Amino acid sequence: MSGSVATKNAGALYASRISRVRQEMQRRSIDATLLSIGHDLPYLTGYYAMPLERLTMLVVTHESVAALVVPRLEAPRVTPFDDVFRIVPWGETENPVSIVAKLLVGAKTIAVGDQMWARFLVELMSFVTNAKFVRAVDVVGPMRMAKDANEIEALRLAGAAADRVAMQLQAGEIALVGRTEAQVSADISARLIDQGHDVVNFAIVAAGENAASPHHHAGPRVIQENEIVLCDFGGMMNGYCSDITRCVFVGTPSRKITSAYSVLYAAQAAGVKAGVVGATCESVDAAARKIIDDAGFGDFFIHRTGHGIGMEAHEDPYMVSGNKLTIVAGHAFSVEPGIYLPGKWGMRLEDIVVATDAGPVSMNNVDHSLVILN
Ligand code: ZN
Ligand code: ZN
Ligand code: ZN
Repeated sequence: MSGSVATKNAGALYASRISRVRQEMQRRSIDATLLSIGHDLPYLTGYYAMPLERLTMLVVTHESVAALVVPRLEAPRVTPFDDVFRIVPWGETENPVSIVAKLLVGAKTIAVGDQMWARFLVELMSFVTNAKFVRAVDVVGPMRMAKDANEIEALRLAGAAADRVAMQLQAGEIALVGRTEAQVSADISARLIDQGHDVVNFAIVAAGENAASPHHHAGPRVIQENEIVLCDFGGMMNGYCSDITRCVFVGTPSRKITSAYSVLYAAQAAGVKAGVVGATCESVDAAARKIIDDAGFGDFFIHRTGHGIGMEAHEDPYMVSGNKLTIVAGHAFSVEPGIYLPGKWGMRLEDIVVATDAGPVSMNNVDHSLVILN
């Protein structure tokens, strides 16, 4: 997997991110932040830990240099940034939890990443008594959500690459009729790599009644004429994710399908338009949902309108009723309403959108209509 955001001055970037973490820790009276596997670690250091049983842990305290506790055998994979963190390797016969505990002497409130193995936290609690543990997501989460210019550029490039594959789909360059969903899924995956993605995260291909299941797994069903084909795909490029959904129709769609699609089209556009700085996340969901509700399809829109995206394919913030979080510049999220008629057909339309001070900017710009193929 490639490193995180490409920049000429990675060390300065990580130093500034960690110093913002310290400011937030100060504000919240947190003495130490512990980040293990998951994406906060590469966000702050450029280092992706393998999700293995051996402990990897970034220890950020109020000292000027953080400590990266890492298995000795993994240490060669770490790109060092001496001003940002020192590497603390541990050998196979040492107890890494006691090494972390020594770095935490005197800490009263300790923030821990969501993805730390429970095992390490439980062991740590026996070393560090009298400390209170809180979630590190409150410290790092708001930073992770508000993407900087480099991150937005990475999302834009990943989105443009996904768009090129969607364009091939809409141009009829990807054969559909007579092939299985799984074959088309493999084809789309290969094209994502061809267009510059490092990793494919998923390529959902759902034909006809299968499209009524939002996370349908592409299978042996052979695509026929006169049915809708929903394609939802994305991957990672330079450490940032793409995610797009487009539907095409091979043949002549019924009046029912074209009219439902025009509702979906309007709902998705309304969701994008609502994604402005200062609005709440739930208002994006409400804007898309209202149009689908008003058209009588409300019972068939069975999921939230969107999810955040960045280093992870799904991350905060979520565009869902009840999420009162205010959108700030740099928030990146999907807007992907759908209409699903069980046993019949389904449709979804998805773009990735970044909120900016100049309004919402879509990372996906290929044709939003139900493209008819013959
Ligand atoms: Zn999904
Ligand atoms: Zn998607
Ligand atoms: Zn999505």
